[in-house]
Amino acid sequence: MAKGNISVDSENLFPIIKKWLYSDKDIFLRELVSNACDAVTKLKKLAVLGEADISADEKYRVTVTLDKKAKKLTVSDNGIGMNAEEIDKYINQIAFSGASDFLSKYQQEDSDKENSQIIGHFGLGFYSAFMVADTVTIDSLSYRDGEKAAKWVCDGTMEYELSDGERTERGTTVTLDIAEDSKEFLDEFKIREILHKYCAYLPTEIYFEVAGKKKDKDSDEAEEKPINTTNPLWMRKPSECSDEDYKTFYRDTFMDFNEPLFWIHLNVDYPFNLKGILYFPKLNHEFAGTEGQVKLFNNQVFVADNVKEVIPEFLLLLKGVVDCPDLPLNVSRSFLQNDGYVQKISNHITKKVSDKLKSIYKDDKEAYEKYWGDIDIFIKYGCLRDEKFYERVKDIIIYKDINDKYITLDNYLEGDTKTVYYVSDTKVQAQYINMFKEQGQNALIMPSVMDTHFISFLETKLDGVKFERIDSSISDAVSDEKKDETDKDKALVELFKNTLNDENLKFEVRGLKNAGIPALILLSEQSRRMQEMYKSMGQQMSYMANMFHDEFTLVINSNNELIQKIDTLADDDKTLAIEHIYDLAKISNAPMTGEQMTKFIERSQKLLGKLF
Ligand code: ADP
Repeated sequence: MAKGNISVDSENLFPIIKKWLYSDKDIFLRELVSNACDAVTKLKKLAVLGEADISADEKYRVTVTLDKKAKKLTVSDNGIGMNAEEIDKYINQIAFSGASDFLSKYQQEDSDKENSQIIGHFGLGFYSAFMVADTVTIDSLSYRDGEKAAKWVCDGTMEYELSDGERTERGTTVTLDIAEDSKEFLDEFKIREILHKYCAYLPTEIYFEVAGKKKDKDSDEAEEKPINTTNPLWMRKPSECSDEDYKTFYRDTFMDFNEPLFWIHLNVDYPFNLKGILYFPKLNHEFAGTEGQVKLFNNQVFVADNVKEVIPEFLLLLKGVVDCPDLPLNVSRSFLQNDGYVQKISNHITKKVSDKLKSIYKDDKEAYEKYWGDIDIFIKYGCLRDEKFYERVKDIIIYKDINDKYITLDNYLEGDTKTVYYVSDTKVQAQYINMFKEQGQNALIMPSVMDTHFISFLETKLDGVKFERIDSSISDAVSDEKKDETDKDKALVELFKNTLNDENLKFEVRGLKNAGIPALILLSEQSRRMQEMYKSMGQQMSYMANMFHDEFTLVINSNNELIQKIDTLADDDKTLAIEHIYDLAKISNAPMTGEQMTKFIERSQKLLGKLF
């Protein structure tokens, strides 16, 4: 038996491992199981090269066994195995230096707090076992003929024992004596959950067994099912995957029983390696949260969800899997953010997504319009977050108009119009919509908060183009040509001003083409936007919002008969009529407050009384 000291600079690595990585202990199992799968992959390769004599129908497997009574968890494989010399080299030297490298990086990074995290603690490897175990034992037998089995035991001090082992079958078993403070890893469901999270798509069949648990009488060994899928859909060639395959994978992976709208299979070998599938989810209902989930894998090993350093942030609204085998994961997140390789991956994904959208737009407009309600927010958010994405998709952004048709901004801006009228609430702004429709004037429906941001964004992009809410100004299409104010107009304004007595209200006389409307209210686009902006900044800034009075203008319609005859009324009736006309204009602009409504109803009753 050989005894040895693991050569280290730092006094004792294991307490540090335990302490630093406390929050993310789960990953020890990922490390051990992926090592076991690697051992199998290596052996398979040697067999293919004719360097290992393995039968073609060999059943490779990894077995994770939980023995609660003995407080042991083992990970066993029938892969390449190691002899004593190899254990010394790979475990005492390589695994150790890997772990100590990792730790020094981790400690360093942690001091610069933000962005300090190393994604999922990749790179710690074999030694992560000491996060949860007092003693770790390796039993191994190399695949080579005539090798002796070897056994390595280390109890978490810096000493290890390396001796002959008893193992008679090729492969490696790593046994963990679970420490008192890590008892949760003796729980069957906890282990199952970790395996499911990290190992569900590893390339070798993985079986989970619980010692002493009675197997179902009727079930025999043949029915034993691995916990993983060894050949996940994203690793296959797109030409070999059916629509049904994609839908099933989506349902199983994201537990979303709505069918996805469509998907993109990423499959790149050159100049970098990238595989994955991105799904455009169907939103459950109009106001459904748009939280997506993009799972990042590294050679089929799950790394983490929604790693925004690798996947462009706006794509995290989608659902999918992305496997980047060459991604350097034992580096900090801030490093990834600035890494050229990561930039390339990110650009590639963005390009693929816009290509797919463009191809649907071009080849199947009807489907595109059908999807629009679900992809609208995604596309607009993408444009706000990523200039390049905007440049790619700007011509395929569509808008629903007041006639319930989809059009592009270019369609809308035909001729030399530079003003885009939009509707933010079809119910509240119904009167204005009608007025527009009567005159064959169009407006775009842009109701969401995202639209508000998107409008500001478009105005910075499109030279001279202005967005005006449908109730913010009078377009020439709905009114007679603007003339100079006549004495009659002046008198009318005076009359309204004196009667309504509201210093924040402005007045204007115009001849609306729709003669039926006595008056209507306009709310200045500029002041409304200011208000909305401050309100959206939350409490701290909301007092600023109050500093911007809503700039309302009451447009008095000189083409309307009531307005034309208003002078013929007795003074009291004039007041009643003017107040009522104003209220009607207000109702058509925004819902009334309780107090306003009470007054309105009282006056309506009075007016009714006049009929009798
Ligand atoms: P990494 O896997 O990143 O190389 P690890 O610390 O996890 O680092 O493992 C160090 C080395 O130990 C591996 O590269 C491998 O050569 C060897 N090793 C670990 N587990 C096994 C195993 N189950 N079978 C064979 N070799 C193994």
